[in-house]
Amino acid sequence: DIHSLNLCAIEVIGAACARVLPLACGRDDALFEHDGQITKREVRALTLSALAPRRGELLWDIGAGSGSVSIEWMLSDPAMRAIAIEASPERAARIGRNAASFGVPGLLVVEGQAPGALRDLPEPDAIFIGGGGSEPGVMGTAIAALPPGGRLVANAVTTEMEAVLLAHHARLGGSLIRVDVARASPVGTMTGWRPAMPVTQWSWTR
Ligand code: SAH
Repeated sequence: DIHSLNLCAIEVIGAACARVLPLACGRDDALFEHDGQITKREVRALTLSALAPRRGELLWDIGAGSGSVSIEWMLSDPAMRAIAIEASPERAARIGRNAASFGVPGLLVVEGQAPGALRDLPEPDAIFIGGGGSEPGVMGTAIAALPPGGRLVANAVTTEMEAVLLAHHARLGGSLIRVDVARASPVGTMTGWRPAMPVTQWSWTR
């Protein structure tokens, strides 16, 4: 009957498609090829929320690492556009592979070091800084590239980068949050909280 037919079809599809991609941002880290340098899923969900993608917009993802933020931006809508800027050739190549496997081949990868690599890129609607933000000229170039209404989101895990973000918040306002995530994991036969490094996030609209 129709019910057993459906069941059968679902089994066949289930076997053919190894994964069904969730629609919400903050997808499992394990879905991405990465070397440990990845914005973890909980922080990534908050990051995409702060970036607030609108249909058709262009993102600059500076220090893109695995490309996870760009990829989740691209997955928000087929009309999204993103440029991932990454200094490490090995990671830049990985971003390309992740983009292909997530079905967002339109993600542009620029292998190079910010701020130099930002020259001549098309004007962004939003910028994420996940790496390189404490290097001279990176924050300033990003801020100058934003049109009125453009959003900047920057994450810090080091105290050096945090100091940069505190200074920008003091000067320009915007919103500053600190995120402490802990995951439950085995402690002998019991369970305990393993804290991740705290992340400071500054969001600002020009
Ligand atoms: N958001 C990324 C993780 C970023 S890790 C993800 O979710 O995968 C920070 C990255 O910034 C590293 O890959 C590092 O190579 C890169 N980076 C550091 N300084 C940079 C610079 N000046 N220009 C471009 N990339 C830079």
